[in-house]
Amino acid sequence: PDANADLAVLVRSIPDHPRPGILFRDLSTLLLDGWGFRTAIDRLIATLDAGRVDLIAGIEARGFIVASALSYALTKGKIMLRKSGKLPGEAVGIDYALEYGTDRIEMHVDAVRPGTRVLLVDDLIATGGTALAGVSLLRGQGAVVEEARFLVDLPALGGADRLAAQGVACRSLLA
Ligand code: IMP
Repeated sequence: PDANADLAVLVRSIPDHPRPGILFRDLSTLLLDGWGFRTAIDRLIATLDAGRVDLIAGIEARGFIVASALSYALTKGKIMLRKSGKLPGEAVGIDYALEYGTDRIEMHVDAVRPGTRVLLVDDLIATGGTALAGVSLLRGQGAVVEEARFLVDLPALGGADRLAAQGVACRSLLA
C-alpha cells in the first residue's frame, strides 16, 4: 500500500454512507483525476500476467470502469456481470447474501466457453461476497477463474482471504 500512497490520497472516506456506521470509500475522486486513474490502471496491469487472461469480467457498476480500461489496454474482451434483469440475451444468474438482504448478478450464457480464463475485477472488495458470487457464476459456465483485481481492498473484512480459499489470487492497490 505504501508504494501507492500517491493514489491513496485520491480516495476519500465518507462516514455513514449508505447507512449509519459505514465508512464508505469513495473512488469518484480517483476517477476525477486523469493521472490517478491512468496510474492506477497501469499499476494493476503490472500485477498481471496478461498471457494467462482470455477475458476480463467486471461487476456492475464501478467494476465496469476498471474492466473497461484493462480490456482496452490489454486488447482483451470483457464480460459484464450485471444486476438482475438487464441482459437482453439468454442469461444465468446467482443470488448472494448482503449484510441486509440479497442481491443478484447475471451473465450471458454464451460469454464464456469451458476453459476460458477469466480475470475478475471490481473497484473494491470488502467481505468478498460480491466477488465470490462472480467467481461461482463464471465457474458455473465453465470458466477458469484464478485471478481477481481490485483498486481497493478492505482487508479487515476478509474478502481477499475468502477468494484465496476458493483458489482465486487477489491483488489490490490500496488497503
Ligand atoms: P463485498 O461484497 O462485501 O466484498 O462488497 C464489495 C462490493 O460492494 C463491490 O461491488 C463494491 O463496489 C461495493 N462496496 C462495498 N463497500 C464499498 C465502499 O466502501 N466503497 C465503494 N464500494 C463499496
